[in-house]
Amino acid sequence: AKERGRNSYQFFTSDMNARALEHMALEHGMRRALERDEFRLAYQPIVDLETREPVGMEALVRWTHPQLGEVPPGRFIPVAEDCGLIGRLGEWVLTEACRQLSAWRREGITVQRLAVNISSRQFYDPQLVDRIQDILASSGIAPTDLSLELTERTLIDDVEGSTGILTRLHELGLEIALDDFGTGYSALGFLKRFPIQLLKVDASFVNDIALDDDDAALVEGIVTLAHNLGLKVVAEGVENLDQVHLLAGYGCDYAQGYFFARPLSAQQMTDVLLQGQGL
Ligand code: C2E
Ligand code: CA
Ligand code: CA
Ligand code: CA
Repeated sequence: AKERGRNSYQFFTSDMNARALEHMALEHGMRRALERDEFRLAYQPIVDLETREPVGMEALVRWTHPQLGEVPPGRFIPVAEDCGLIGRLGEWVLTEACRQLSAWRREGITVQRLAVNISSRQFYDPQLVDRIQDILASSGIAPTDLSLELTERTLIDDVEGSTGILTRLHELGLEIALDDFGTGYSALGFLKRFPIQLLKVDASFVNDIALDDDDAALVEGIVTLAHNLGLKVVAEGVENLDQVHLLAGYGCDYAQGYFFARPLSAQQMTDVLLQGQGL
């Protein structure tokens, strides 16, 4: 028994160590990557379901670690939140997104609006609103050209506080989108309270609408509810034409997903937009 106890203890610690080590490797790697400017942004179009034209795109951060290779943001963003690097990383993302948007505009390329993800700690940073204003001013981007994507989880952490921050951002002219809708614990009443203009229905609801009547009814209901509250709706994770037809039938406004385009590098996106061949 003693032996087994020791083994399971060792197993436990080595598992803990592996996680702690990964955390440390990612933290160290992110510090270095920030210094060396090694993060990049990928861009995925958001498409109008009526016209099939892009109405904007979402910026998604990308990072290739020298040893670990491509690390998905779902893995390193939480670590950046934990170790306090999210402020610097989030600021880099905003700055780079605005720089790229203004570069596209200089080349005469039309990009209506760029959406940027804002994580929780970044959102509650008292400097956020000022920093966004500075970044917009120095890149010559209008506040109405920028959309901020926040999750329900982030907003529900501090309903009073987040309402205040959102109100300031909205008054500046930024669009506010509720990301991953349906995955949080949102009491629907919150939707009315927050100054939000766009609802992004999480891919997990969209995936099976062509296969599962319950999912179909849910998404259709979300679209109706959102419209009644004066919000526009984006369906996330759209991968096939059946989904496109169903979503259009529900009156869903926009869609995003591999069916239209995968996230592309800035250069790939520039090529696609310049060729004007559509997506
Ligand atoms: P998200 O904001 O919900 O972003 C959408 C994710 O779905 C992206 O994953 C995108 O590549 C993926 N996706 C798009 N279309 C499809 C599809 O048709 N099928 C499937 N299976 N996936 C699709 P990605 O880039 O790995 O990002 C994951 C999450 O990491 C994002 O989820 C967001 O929460 C976070 N994230 C990404 N970039 C940033 C950033 O710059 N800042 C912050 N704070 N978070 C970010
Ligand atoms: Ca998002
Ligand atoms: Ca999402
Ligand atoms: Ca079912």
